[in-house]
Amino acid sequence: MKNKELNILGINLIKQLKDIGIPISNNISEIKINNRAKARFGACKVKKGILGKSYIIEISSEIVECNTKIISEVIIHELLHTCPGCFNHGKKWKSYASKVESSLGYTIKTTQKYEDFGLDRPDEKEEIKYVIKCAGCGAEFQRKRLCKLVKNPEKYRCGKCGNILYLQGEKHNIL
Ligand SMILES: [Zn+2]
Ligand SMILES: [Zn+2]
Repeated sequence: MKNKELNILGINLIKQLKDIGIPISNNISEIKINNRAKARFGACKVKKGILGKSYIIEISSEIVECNTKIISEVIIHELLHTCPGCFNHGKKWKSYASKVESSLGYTIKTTQKYEDFGLDRPDEKEEIKYVIKCAGCGAEFQRKRLCKLVKNPEKYRCGKCGNILYLQGEKHNIL
């Protein structure tokens, strides 16, 4: 989904929310993709100008390829923050969220975690895929990707004892 489609979807969602009586702000200036936000899927930013407050909704590029329902749920979560007295996830925000759930069939979560979207957390420790072992001292050299050492361990020697190296055929995880 691109910015343009995201805006069309956003405008459509604002209408749906207003139709069920949720006081979404009339001053939403933009709904856009944020390419840098990794830790959170959505953000609602307030801009204070001469004409008063306006809001910018940002949706992380991490989820723009998810299905429309998921993107919609993140947008709605953020749109609810533009209602009066809803800048946190307090009683009022929660009451609107449950109204959206019962009236429109969306699932609005307080926190939006990667697992909820079937995505892998980018900050999760990378998996160790290859372990090169020394035939002499047993030292282990862990590698996350296929590299020269993994491809041709016989061309290298152990830095500790100078013995030959070999690839251990198993997968390991750092915990
Ligand atoms: Zn929130
Ligand atoms: Zn060694």
